[in-house]
Amino acid sequence: MPRRTAPPPVLVWFRQDLRLADNPALAAAGDRPVLPVYVLDEAAAGRWAPGGAARWWLHHSLAALAAALQAKGAGLHLARGRAEAVLPSLARAVGADEVHANRLCEPWARAQERRVAAALAEAGARLRLHGSPLLHDPADLRAGSGRPYEAFTPFARALRSRLEHLAPPLPAPGRLVPVPGAPEGETVAGWRLAPGAPDWAAEFATLWRPGEAGAEARLARFLAADRLRAYAAARDRPGEADGTSGLSPHLHWGEISPRRVWHAVRDAAASGDRAGSAEPFLRELLWREFCHHLLWHRPEMPERALRPAFDGFPWAPDARLLRAWQRGRTGFPIVDAGMRQLWRLGWMHNRVRMIAGSVLVKHLLQPWQDGAAWFWDTLVDADLASNSANWQWVAGSGTDAAPWFRIFHPVLQGERFDPEGRYVRRFVPELARLPDRWLHRPWQAPEPVLRAAGVVLGRDYPRPLADPAEGRARALAAFAAMRRRA
Ligand code: FAD
Repeated sequence: MPRRTAPPPVLVWFRQDLRLADNPALAAAGDRPVLPVYVLDEAAAGRWAPGGAARWWLHHSLAALAAALQAKGAGLHLARGRAEAVLPSLARAVGADEVHANRLCEPWARAQERRVAAALAEAGARLRLHGSPLLHDPADLRAGSGRPYEAFTPFARALRSRLEHLAPPLPAPGRLVPVPGAPEGETVAGWRLAPGAPDWAAEFATLWRPGEAGAEARLARFLAADRLRAYAAARDRPGEADGTSGLSPHLHWGEISPRRVWHAVRDAAASGDRAGSAEPFLRELLWREFCHHLLWHRPEMPERALRPAFDGFPWAPDARLLRAWQRGRTGFPIVDAGMRQLWRLGWMHNRVRMIAGSVLVKHLLQPWQDGAAWFWDTLVDADLASNSANWQWVAGSGTDAAPWFRIFHPVLQGERFDPEGRYVRRFVPELARLPDRWLHRPWQAPEPVLRAAGVVLGRDYPRPLADPAEGRARALAAFAAMRRRA
């Protein structure tokens, strides 16, 4: 009787898909012996390597993934270096003929995939790519003209109809068969991704629990209470602690798949009398898809305005203004609250991201790329597609941007979306004793009111960097100058 030979092992290359459930690359390993690998290849990402806050997240997420894989029987191998060097050499060492991985949309990651595929082919192995970080493959959705979508509404309509038949998520594998004698890898602690002393990320852990279990717990919490139904109204209120899901860093790192979230939200809405309550939330997931669709088709998006006319925009770069914005010292309380929330917790509420972004590019005339770079370094959910598409939307230079003349008024936005001042009082405590009426416009408060609240402007809290009306007029003039030049 012929002897059955054991199938050769495979490598599963984890990237921004740090999960076991609904992971097509891991599922493709089937019953074969598997060596899960993560490669820290910062040179491949270049200037888009994870920023400080994202490195904190990655540290904890890799630790969680390693523990989860170990519990299934196959430990995570950690290696640092160029993926096209590390993966073929590991494949050779363990006799693997295939490397399975999930696709990404970032231009640098696509270039990396091509290099890895070529290097593996030379080593006699194959790169097998699966899925994407999205609900739908961005290469497979085009407008009737055959061109990629440039506006959100028709994009969302087309995608929504395809998602009616979205396949269910894949289960996590049962036991994994380890590769005997796999070489020893590095340790996540040795990579020093998280800060040592001083630990500027100390407060992050009060809000976040990186890893697949943390992602599932967040989703469960969002669906358990009636937050889904409340979402449409609460999502714009930064003072509402649980107004939004808080899933963005988990989605960025692929600790939960958008397909899992989509189905869970739809199922929750279908149960009970909550039909229809899922739509506002699902729409945000479609925005995430749209940002990735844009990045896929316009890989220059992180660096260059999608509307070429904006290349000639008369920005007025000023290190002092940029620094005041970064530190949360613009004199606009809603903006400063947002910038300080970002620094302390690695995250900022979406409404406030829009207001803070608008003040930077419009009232202060700083290039949107400078704001995007700061977000890149400080957000735990920093995502090349979502960050650059949203900054271009705020700046008016995107394909589907808000019209330039719609300029967010930092005082009126604060009064509308943080009417009781809960958000500002939490992050700008030096203004906490000001009455609501003056909280978003302290420089207009009468002197006795300021004194009673213990605020001396210019000492305890800055005067605004720009008068809102003058800032608006300057921004409109700059836009008009750009149009004349174009
Ligand atoms: P929820 O309201 O619960 O939404 C659910 C999910 O939908 C989010 O987790 C996110 O994946 C997606 N989503 C929601 N709003 C948007 C949006 N406007 N664009 C794309 N996807 C969205 N999001 C990032 O994930 N990474 C970024 O780097 C990023 N940079 C941004 C920069 C600016 C200037 C602005 C205005 C927005 C940015 N966003 C970014 C989008 C948005 O602010 C965050 O996704 C959202 O605040 C995350 O919180 P949440 O998970 O509680 O959102």
